[in-house]
Amino acid sequence: MAHRDFRRKTSEVKVGGITIGGDAPIRLQSMTNTSTLDTEASVAQCVAIANAGADIVRLTAQGVAQAQNMGEICRRLREIGVDIPLVADIHFNPAAAFEAATRVEKVRINPGNFVDPGRTFKKLSYTDEEYAEELKKISDKLVPFLKVCRENGTAIRLGVNHGSLSDRIMSRYGDTPAGMVESAMEFLRVCRNEGFNDVVISIKASNVVVMTQTVRLLVEAMDAEDMHYPLHLGVTEAGDAEDGRVKSAVGIGSLLADGIGDTIRVSLSEAPENEIPVARKLVEHINRIASDEIERSEAPKIPDGITRPVPVAAGVDFDVAVGLPDGYELVESHRANAISDIRRQFAERYDTGNYKPTVIKISYPADYDADRVTVAASVDFGSLLLDGFGDGIWIEAPGVSAEKLHSLEMSILQATRRRISKTEYIACPGCGRTLFDLPSVLQTIKAGTSHLKGLKIGVMGCIVNGPGEMADADYGYVGAASGCVSLYKGKECMVKNIPADEALPRLIELIKENGDWVDE
Ligand code: SF4
Repeated sequence: MAHRDFRRKTSEVKVGGITIGGDAPIRLQSMTNTSTLDTEASVAQCVAIANAGADIVRLTAQGVAQAQNMGEICRRLREIGVDIPLVADIHFNPAAAFEAATRVEKVRINPGNFVDPGRTFKKLSYTDEEYAEELKKISDKLVPFLKVCRENGTAIRLGVNHGSLSDRIMSRYGDTPAGMVESAMEFLRVCRNEGFNDVVISIKASNVVVMTQTVRLLVEAMDAEDMHYPLHLGVTEAGDAEDGRVKSAVGIGSLLADGIGDTIRVSLSEAPENEIPVARKLVEHINRIASDEIERSEAPKIPDGITRPVPVAAGVDFDVAVGLPDGYELVESHRANAISDIRRQFAERYDTGNYKPTVIKISYPADYDADRVTVAASVDFGSLLLDGFGDGIWIEAPGVSAEKLHSLEMSILQATRRRISKTEYIACPGCGRTLFDLPSVLQTIKAGTSHLKGLKIGVMGCIVNGPGEMADADYGYVGAASGCVSLYKGKECMVKNIPADEALPRLIELIKENGDWVDE
């Protein structure tokens, strides 16, 4: 398939002065973490995000007052010549969505909590009649909202998140990819029945494997019902630094490399404007791939009786000057479109079922710096490893230190869940609801727990979305109120509302009490 056809065809959605979908470029977006009631701070952050190169900026509107103040933020931005479209982020509060729809260019609602009050677990089974009645409730609430959006030329995003599905969906599907897809489809069907087409759709998860599988399932479900809404891609709670960049680039990039995705948000637990250069590099890498021939093929079938080894990493498990570990083969590429090149070589080499453990080596030009290699290698190896290619990873990049390359290899293997070698942090990016200084708290928690290999620790800024969205975290550190934190073991709150300065030692105690602590 030639590159010109490679992007999935979608409808166009106008958001203020820009278009998402159709033939429009992939749009970059970020989100403020200021209080939406603080006009000065929010305007300043929107400007910083716009200056970094974002096409769209989102602000949280947890209540009607915040939604109303978005009108003032919008007015102030236009006054100083900043025309970036604004998106209101709504959870649990349809009244705020109605207010925002008259003031900003786009409103994000969460199908998991727009009609339903959020998961109560009170009703865990529904008869078919009860289920149909629940679906009617969606229509009753969504149709008037779509009417206001239509009258004001406002687009919407239906943003489904792993961990915030309604009781209705949970009762039939559980917190599964199928449940997330159905949660989106229920709302999309109402939009289509109403002839409302200014819809962008997203399904996010912090687990990259779940996120990519679910988005692919959504695309299949939409295609089956002849729907072509543009897709917003993101990995939630990706964390910060290398881990955050790698998880986002693996998840978003492997979908973009398959032609899926029209707008992206790289979520980092850092200053929001830091997200844009990463997003830009990601799109640049995809454009470079797409300038070449795009080929797709399935990973080779592993013959019965062969157990695949845990993937090895160059420089960590074997010395590149000496050669591959015994019994391993090498497949390598230095092409811009290494993904297709490697897939083709696998298809040629293993078409007879004679599979051998294989290290994938991809070489990047000497002028690629560490940031560029981080994104490019995450996309290339991420796409291949998620699809089951390869038993080892070897990144060659003369412009980057060996130490950085080894760390990157391990982060890519971890993000694709092919090899777990460190603590996994499921940390939200923060928004106007955040109750503590996320970047610094995350650093402190990392300093105390980063030796706990394989443990998943959620660090979430608020109690509203935090506990649900920290997904499969083993432990959670969640902002409960100003200066107060609650601690979780799985989904259960174990320690409620303790002062923030006692929270890390108490978290460590909780991990010890449950036998998950090891000394460094
Ligand atoms: S979990 Fe984090 S990003 Fe999500 S709403 Fe709460 S503070 Fe905002």
